[in-house]
Amino acid sequence: MRYLYILLAIFIFPWSIHAQNYEQEREKMVTKQILKRGVRDVRTLDAMRKVERHLFVPPRYMRMAYDDSPLSIGYGQTISQPYIVAYMTEIIEPKPSDKVLEIGTGSGYQAAVLAEIIDKVYTIEIVSELAKTASDRLQNLGYDNVKVISGDGYNGFEEEAPFDAIVVTAASEHIPPSLIKQLKEGGKMIIPVGSPFLVQTLMLIEKKDGKISTSSLMPVKFVPFTRGQNQ
Ligand code: SAH
Repeated sequence: MRYLYILLAIFIFPWSIHAQNYEQEREKMVTKQILKRGVRDVRTLDAMRKVERHLFVPPRYMRMAYDDSPLSIGYGQTISQPYIVAYMTEIIEPKPSDKVLEIGTGSGYQAAVLAEIIDKVYTIEIVSELAKTASDRLQNLGYDNVKVISGDGYNGFEEEAPFDAIVVTAASEHIPPSLIKQLKEGGKMIIPVGSPFLVQTLMLIEKKDGKISTSSLMPVKFVPFTRGQNQ
């Protein structure tokens, strides 16, 4: 029996240190990368503390999951830098009762951060393999308030429109008109606009009294917004 305990200790002890480290790394990520750069929304900060980013990256990048950078997730796509995810979440001022649409599921990380705050998250991904992996991952992690749709998000998601907020995580040369249409009165959209592979501008689009206002927030670099074959 004693040997069993020793064996258990040998296997479980390193595992518990490991688990502990990820939690510490997340706290460090929030303090040094996110709070330090000015994100103050409590719901956003809590969500960033909670979502296990290391479970959204390929196994070989797990140890880099809390670094201050984007990481490759395969198919030429990336999971965004933690600060950018936090910034885009804060700017839409998410509330639990909101209904939000994300275009560009990728790993599902941004969707998970939104789902920690918001009751209903819809997210569309054009690379079907990524849509499937992200959907399985989110389901396994218990995010049953996220619906992943496999397809081209250029035309938004008419069935569930209008949305309180739309978060676009791929860079588009222009703002897709359907997305503006599917924004609720008082709603906000955040989208990187500009040429693929160059520096783009993160833009905030707001709909107030039926009028659209736009503001430029900061320079960013996102992977390109692509289009489906049948478009
Ligand atoms: N939000 C993601 C990061 C996404 S990278 C995360 O948290 O991991 C941008 C993603 O947008 C890529 O996965 C890319 O395949 C997807 N994408 C590009 N164009 C798209 C389109 N027209 N519709 C839906 N997804 C698109």
